[in-house]
Amino acid sequence: MSNRKNPTRGMSSESRYSLMEFMDEFPDDDACLTYLWRSRYSQDGEHAHCPRCDRERTFHRYHTAQARQSWTCTACGLHVHPTAGTIFHKSSTSLKLWFYALYLITSTRCGISAKQLERELGVTYKTAWRMFNVIRNSLMAEDGITLSGEVEMDETYLVHRRRANEPVGQPGRSLRERAVMGAVERRGQVVARYVGSANRLEVEHMTDLHVLPAAMVYTDESAIYRRLKGRGYGHARVNHSAGVYVDGDAHTQSIEGFWSLLKSGIRGTYHSVSSKWLQSYLNEYAWRYNHREHTRRQPGVKRMPVGEAKFRLLVERACQPVA
Ligand SMILES: [Zn+2]
Repeated sequence: MSNRKNPTRGMSSESRYSLMEFMDEFPDDDACLTYLWRSRYSQDGEHAHCPRCDRERTFHRYHTAQARQSWTCTACGLHVHPTAGTIFHKSSTSLKLWFYALYLITSTRCGISAKQLERELGVTYKTAWRMFNVIRNSLMAEDGITLSGEVEMDETYLVHRRRANEPVGQPGRSLRERAVMGAVERRGQVVARYVGSANRLEVEHMTDLHVLPAAMVYTDESAIYRRLKGRGYGHARVNHSAGVYVDGDAHTQSIEGFWSLLKSGIRGTYHSVSSKWLQSYLNEYAWRYNHREHTRRQPGVKRMPVGEAKFRLLVERACQPVA
């Protein structure tokens, strides 16, 4: 029985690290900066390893007029800037807005548009757009993904919607169809790359980078996958053109599921994605897919809701220096 005087969150409401909880934790720039300081340098907020003294020292924070505050070693006077090297470092956007953007991007299932970000943050569209791309390209890009076991590979095409002032192209396959190659481990992670065209070389490139030899690769009957067997992979095809979609274990339903998420995301959230930004968009969708599950169960530890886990993952990543 629910009790109106003591409301509990329904079991069905997934995620929800609520906006209230976020605001409590990160009310202002100061809270965000302290979070960075503790996360990068000082667990207790007071002691940290001083690289100049080469030992643990007490650090003190002196409030100055600087935009980006620092902590100072009380023994040698070295200043440590918690934002150094991170995505926040050279940005003129306040830390609080950056954190809020990370919250907004992870608190919805399908993501939000730069337009929504602009409205929520009260920044210009250009700023919102730039923040979005930094987040996608620096925090959500995951290069080291390796797939093994049962892997599905497929290509798909995304149509770039024509703008009003663009001429109508040739009939048939339009130049605005952009090819995307993807590979997914069943019940595992996905990689998706925007490619000039889906061909054998791109298949080889993707498998070399991301698929362990000895994996079993499932594809459709397209000729671009013909050499997989010669390269040491197990390979089974499903003959889509003959109307066959599942043949025992041979199917590509996992990667098709990812494509449909991607495409409905493009239709629903974004007006049009230009080729220049397509990869960053793929990064975001792959990242969401790859972190769709709860964190691993640990004995005696209550699992974090999915939404909150995603937010914390992204914030943790944001506290690391970027290349
Ligand atoms: Zn020192």
